Amino acid sequence: MKRIAVLTSGGDCSGMNATIRAVVRSGLSNNLEVIGIQKGYQGLIDQQYELLTTKSVSGKLQVGGTFLQSARCLEMLEEPGRRRAVETLQEMGAEGLVVIGGDGSHRGAYELQKRGVPVIAIPASIDNDIPFTDMSLGVDTALNNILHAVDCLKDTASSHDRTFVVETMGRDCGYLALVSGIACGAEYALIPESAYDIDEICKHLLRRFQEGRDNSIIMVAEGAGKAQDIADQIKNRIGFETRIMVLGHYQRGGSPSSFDRLLAARFGVTAVEALLQGTSGIMLGLGCGAIIQTDLGKVIVGGRRKIDATLLKLAATLGI
Ligand code: ADP
Repeated sequence: MKRIAVLTSGGDCSGMNATIRAVVRSGLSNNLEVIGIQKGYQGLIDQQYELLTTKSVSGKLQVGGTFLQSARCLEMLEEPGRRRAVETLQEMGAEGLVVIGGDGSHRGAYELQKRGVPVIAIPASIDNDIPFTDMSLGVDTALNNILHAVDCLKDTASSHDRTFVVETMGRDCGYLALVSGIACGAEYALIPESAYDIDEICKHLLRRFQEGRDNSIIMVAEGAGKAQDIADQIKNRIGFETRIMVLGHYQRGGSPSSFDRLLAARFGVTAVEALLQGTSGIMLGLGCGAIIQTDLGKVIVGGRRKIDATLLKLAATLGI
C-alpha cells in the first residue's frame, strides 16, 4: 500500500482536524502518501483533493472544525455519483479511504466499500447517537462548551432571580442535555427519551421559590421541545421571568478537549493500521476504554445509540 485518502463529511465537530493530523502523521510514519479530499464526498465528485504533508497539518491539532471542510453531497445518494467517487479514488491511486463523519457519512463509506474501496469509518458527531461506540469524536468538547455557557449563565441567573431554559443540540438524542444537566447541576434535563410534565415542573419551581431558591436552569434537548415554548409555558403558568439560551452551533466549535484530542489520535492511528493490515468496511469505536471495530454493515442498520440507563438513574438520584 502506497497511498490512502482521508475526508471529513456531514456535520463538522471539534476533533476532526486532530484526526486528519493523526491519519497523516501515522500514514507518513508508515511510508504512505495521504491525500486530503475537500468538502467530503463532494471532493470525490468534483476531484478536489491535495497531497497532505506534516506542514499541511501543522497548527491544526488545537483548532475546531475541519480544514478539509465538510459538505452534504447529494450525488452520493445515487449510483452515478457513487461510481464517480470510486473512479476518482482509483485515478488518484488511493488504496484505502478514511471517512470521518456521522451516520450519513458511514452510509456513504459502506456504499464505497461495497464497490471495492477499502474503507475505515470514524464516528464524529456531537450528538453521541452513533451506535457501537461509547463516545463519538466531538462529544466531549461539545459538553465542555455547554458547561462553560451554563456556568456563565448561572452567575447572571443568580443575580436576577431568573429561570433559564437552555436548548442543546442532539436531534432525537438527549445525551448532551442529560450529561450537561448532571455536570452543571441543572434542575431539569428534558430529553426525548423520557416524558415530562410541564405542570409538575412548574409546581417544583414554585416550591423552590417558596424555599428561597429563586433561580433555576432547565436543560432541554432540541428533540424534546423548543426552549422558547417551554419558557412561555412556565411564564404563563406561574409568572416566572424565564429567559432562554439556544446554544446552537456554538456547541460544535472550539478547541478540542484533551479527551477528544486523544480519541482523535487513537482513531486516526488505528484507522491507518487497520488499512495496512488489510481490514476494510469497519467503523472504529470506543468500547470500555479500548478502540473497537464493528462492521459498517452492522453499524448502518444499528439505529441510534440509546442513552445508557445508568445515566438516567444517576440523574434521577441527583434529583434532575
Ligand atoms: P452525517 O454524516 O453528519 O450524519 P449526513 O447525514 O448529512 O451527515 O451525511 C453526510 C453525507 O454522507 C451526505 O451528504 C451524503 O453525501 C453521504 N450519504 C448520506 N447517506 C448516504 C447514503 N445512503 N449513501 C451514500 N452516501 C450517503
